[in-house]
Amino acid sequence: MASHIVGYPRMGPKRELKFALESFWNGKISADELQKVASGLKASIWKEMADAGIKYIPSNTFSYYDQVLDTTAMIGAVPPRYGWNGGEIDFDVYFSMARGNATLPAMEMTKWFDTNYHYIVPELGPDMKFSYASHKAVDEYKEAKALGVDTVPVIVGPVSYLLLSKPAKGTDKSYHLLSLIDRILLVYKEVISELKAAGTSWIQFDEPKLVTDLDSHQLQAFTHAYSELESALSGLNVLIETYFADVPAEGYRTLASLKGVTAFGFDLVRGTKTLDLIKGGFPSGKYLFAGVVDGRNIWANDLAASLNTLQALEDIVGKDKLVVSTSCSLLHTAVDLGNEIKLDAEIKSWLAFAAQKILEVNALAKGLSGQKDEAFFSANAAAHASRKSSSRVTNETVQKAAAALKGSDHCRSTNVGARLEAQQKKLNLPLLPTSTTGSFPQTMDLRRVRRAYKANKISEDYYVKAIKEEIRKVVELQEELDIDVLVHGEPERNDMVEYFGEQLSGFAFTVNGWVQSYGSRCVKPPIIYGDVSRPTPMTVFWSTMAQSMTKRPMKGMLTGPVTILNWSFVRNDQPRFETCYQVALAIKDELEDLEKAGITIIQIDEAALREGLPLRKSEQPFYLDWAVHSFRITNCSVQDTTQIHTHMCYSNFNDIIHSIIDMDSDVITLENSRSDEKLLSVFREGVKYGAGIGPGVYDIHSPRIPSTEEIVDRITKMLAVLESHILWVNPDCGLKTRKYSEVKPALSNMVAAAKIVRTRL
Ligand code: GLN
Ligand code: ZN
Repeated sequence: MASHIVGYPRMGPKRELKFALESFWNGKISADELQKVASGLKASIWKEMADAGIKYIPSNTFSYYDQVLDTTAMIGAVPPRYGWNGGEIDFDVYFSMARGNATLPAMEMTKWFDTNYHYIVPELGPDMKFSYASHKAVDEYKEAKALGVDTVPVIVGPVSYLLLSKPAKGTDKSYHLLSLIDRILLVYKEVISELKAAGTSWIQFDEPKLVTDLDSHQLQAFTHAYSELESALSGLNVLIETYFADVPAEGYRTLASLKGVTAFGFDLVRGTKTLDLIKGGFPSGKYLFAGVVDGRNIWANDLAASLNTLQALEDIVGKDKLVVSTSCSLLHTAVDLGNEIKLDAEIKSWLAFAAQKILEVNALAKGLSGQKDEAFFSANAAAHASRKSSSRVTNETVQKAAAALKGSDHCRSTNVGARLEAQQKKLNLPLLPTSTTGSFPQTMDLRRVRRAYKANKISEDYYVKAIKEEIRKVVELQEELDIDVLVHGEPERNDMVEYFGEQLSGFAFTVNGWVQSYGSRCVKPPIIYGDVSRPTPMTVFWSTMAQSMTKRPMKGMLTGPVTILNWSFVRNDQPRFETCYQVALAIKDELEDLEKAGITIIQIDEAALREGLPLRKSEQPFYLDWAVHSFRITNCSVQDTTQIHTHMCYSNFNDIIHSIIDMDSDVITLENSRSDEKLLSVFREGVKYGAGIGPGVYDIHSPRIPSTEEIVDRITKMLAVLESHILWVNPDCGLKTRKYSEVKPALSNMVAAAKIVRTRL
């Protein structure tokens, strides 16, 4: 009977770590106090797992910021600009790398595989001097041991670490980072020997890069690294953990033949082909850590089905060599369902957060060893049956409408050139029209009003008046600034997905279902549990009110289906694309109502379209196909004269440019402010873009106010590649995080710049 957890959320059930970190950063608590909160959280996590009966309990999965940064600290790979002089890395250096300090920016942060977690990208080069500079892994092991819990220390594997790094500034871009392997292994060896001395019998290396498309040279690095570590590791059980997808066949062969390794962990939830690989051959005498409990979702496991899978695996690897595990670290799911006071009992019975997943893993392990907890299993079966048959999940009408979409395509009947002409006749916009992305600054007062309304502390009448006043202010400001296409500013929205989720059926919301996004930042994704439909219009009231305040066109503002999907916990009882089509149909209803109400420009934000891109190249075309199709479903039936805009939050779209063109929107605005070059190179290379395009002319992520000359310069550069009749002038994202004192001068300069360039055309 063996059970294992890959990793656990650090934030705490009520985001205790977040609040402690932020107090520490603000100088309100001392380092000692911060460490105390951390120790309390770690102790309760270890105890929770020990009490549940988990055999292999992870340590060193706690982090003050990020586990990759912890590894950077472990090997002393601090970029020289942070002025670190050796010795043990302290909070000062650590948090400077994570968040920057008064004089230095932070290191770059990027998405952790296809999750919404972000890691700090190591910056390495030939001049980097590595040394054993953070004893955190050993300290945590000892900390747990002192509490009576013998844990499995978890360390980011050396090869994945290098493959997740980038060449440091000043290092040739083509520098081969894997050539640093022997140098970092020297530090890994020191860590291993200290862990051994402290009494560990197992060690876990996370090597998630093994699930990606790797070339033979990269695979060879794994073989080399682990044979290099073999003697250091002798006497230990060594687990190589993979997650987020299946390991491709070649990677599987490499993995299975690694020297000194005694156990392999696989994601059996996302890794749909892993089972076949294992059936095709598993190294004899080795342990299989079978990740059957989903670490990326909030659904209760189907215990009966998992037990079947596990029994089949047992026949292959042997009874004493099978370990029940999670598909990946539970970092990517919510913490504890016990804290959800607002969800009803029926929906709650369908869910399992990290704390509940631990119990599931353990129940499966016991079930395998013939000590099945019948009551636990039958409660789980009952919950599954209720989820399957609940009328809250299935809506025949929605199912039929979504099914009818399959096999056919959905596009607007006229091509973009003809549409733009028809629209221009109606809109009569100047060349280089100016506009914004949607939101205007969200003041404290505004947040207070929304909160009070939600808590029933103010009347609907009062609330509507307050929001109306805010919209009026925003409209007047835009007219004063002489912006061509206006927005209402989104004052009624707390979040671009939550706002729609709350009005659609099939969505549920948690109170404490937070998931770490980066550092102390967490997100609280909605849960899509049932067929999605739109009972009543969602934005028509506010959009028509805003339009009535001005003669200029007012953009309707919607969040697109792919973004709603990618920023939610999605049901697992039907394919993602089916859920996406349902959301698309709901948004389509809204679009048609907006059009009927006289809104002539409608923006459908697809901020997160790229985020859903699968890790493996072979799976990307299918995703892009249904994602683009979903977008087109929303607006395929509007008139030629209705102008559809979309907005995306990244400039790095060169590899998906053809999908973006396929979306067939009339105008697209993009984040671009940080790299003109990347974006424009696509067009320089001859990609024809017939639709309107607004690559952001300034960066809204910084408080800096761009000058008119600077924006003139940006627009001029864009005009060298894009035709003047398709170019729009706008900031690169919504303005909600900025202050009015920044927004007013910035937009004023932007409009001035557009006017200057117009005179030159
Ligand atoms: N319309 C949204 C806004 O302006 C878009 C936000 C986003 O792209 N993240 O706030
Ligand atoms: Zn954006």
